[in-house]
This record gives sequence, C-alpha cells and structure tokens, in this order.
Amino acid sequence: MNFILLGPPGSGKGTQGEYLEKKLSIKRISTGDLLRNEVAAGSDLGHEIKDILSTGALVSDDIVLRLLKENIAHKEYDRGFILDGFPRNLSQANLLDEILEKMNKHIDAVFYFHISEQQLIDRICNRFYCESCKANYNKLFKPPKVAGVCDECGGTSFKTRPDDNIDSVKTRFSEYKTQTLPLISYYDDRGILHKMDSSKNIEKISKEIEEVLKKLLT
Ligand code: AMP
Repeated sequence: MNFILLGPPGSGKGTQGEYLEKKLSIKRISTGDLLRNEVAAGSDLGHEIKDILSTGALVSDDIVLRLLKENIAHKEYDRGFILDGFPRNLSQANLLDEILEKMNKHIDAVFYFHISEQQLIDRICNRFYCESCKANYNKLFKPPKVAGVCDECGGTSFKTRPDDNIDSVKTRFSEYKTQTLPLISYYDDRGILHKMDSSKNIEKISKEIEEVLKKLLT
C-alpha cells in the first residue's frame, strides 16, 4: 500500500504518519525530514537550502525530486510507503506519477488534512519534538504523558523546529494555498482522496483512517 498525506504544515500529517507507520509496518518518507537531515549533516546541499527552510518557502522541485528518487528506491519501501510533505505542487505530482509508473507502483490513497489558518498557528507555535527519537508533541494537544519525558524513548531533551514561528507559518500557509491546494482535485478526480477534519482529536482521525484502510484492504 502506498499513501500520501496531504495538508498544510501543522495539520496533523506527521502525527498520523507516525501512527500509520507503526500500525501498518510501512515506512514513511518525509521530504521535510530528508531536507532537514541535509542541513543537520552540514552537506553542500544542506548549506544551499538552510535559509529557504527557515523562511518557509519551498525548495526547488529538482532538489526534492532528487532526494525522493534516491530514497523511494530503497528496499525498505518494497512493502509500501507513506509520503508526508510530498508532492507539494502539480509538477511534483506529475513527476511522482512518472517515477511510480517506472517502478510499477501506484498511489492507493491520499489523506487530505483540512484545517483553518488560525488553528494552524496555534498548533505550530506550540509544537516540539524529542531530540533523540524525533517523536512529535504539542503543548496544547499532545503533551508527553510524563512532563519532560518522551513517551517513545524516555529521552528528556526536546527541541522546536527553527521554522515553527509565526512569520514562517504564514509563508508556509500561503505557499500551501497557491501551490498545494490544486492537488486536492488532482487526486479527488481519481477517486482516491479521503478528507480528514484536522480539528477533531488525534484518536478520532486515526480511527477514520483505519476505517478507510480496512475498506481498501477488503
Ligand atoms: P515539512 O516538514 O513538510 O513542513 O517541510 C519543511 C520545509 O521543507 C518546507 O517548508 C519546505 O521549505 C521544504 N519542503 C519539504 N517538502 C517539500 C517539497 N515537497 N517541495 C518543496 N519544498 C519542500
């Protein structure tokens, strides 16, 4: 099974992606994570994209496509993959179709996470992650069960993303509206789009996703 998680930053894609990854034992590919890894590793590419990432603008299709192609061909994705943060515009969606066709694969479902701009701001400006295992948390919606201790790995050091600030959120939301929103009809026309209301609680959304998956598997 191959899925896409579509929605603005902060809409819950990452949280549901982590859930689906465990539930289905299918690996997630987050282009945002791949790009941040380059910055953290201090590679030439990392230096080139560092400033773009911190402003919230999109990185060029060439760069993202190159990273995606390198990763999607790995054996660990033979069972399927969950794409998080890709595609982000129509050109990336077309190129993804070409790549998958060559690999004899296709997208089974696209989960679209719908949310208002104000809710996004509230979420993004309150989120943080575990420095060691990268599990995501939110001060308002998903704090660790024990304050200051990661539920997943017991780590006690947490960080916030440098692009999780109000200016960057506004840029990212505006990029999302102009570039990414057209993908909704692109996938809806194929009958594989499933709309999720991101204002619902995390468990409720997970249940709805599971119901869609059950139907797909029967
Ligand atoms: P994300 O973690 O998905 O919110 O992505 C963080 C940042 O990485 C975005 O604000 C963009 O600068 C960049 N990025 C991630 N995925 C893509 C993509 N598919 N195309 C272009 N830029 C991307």
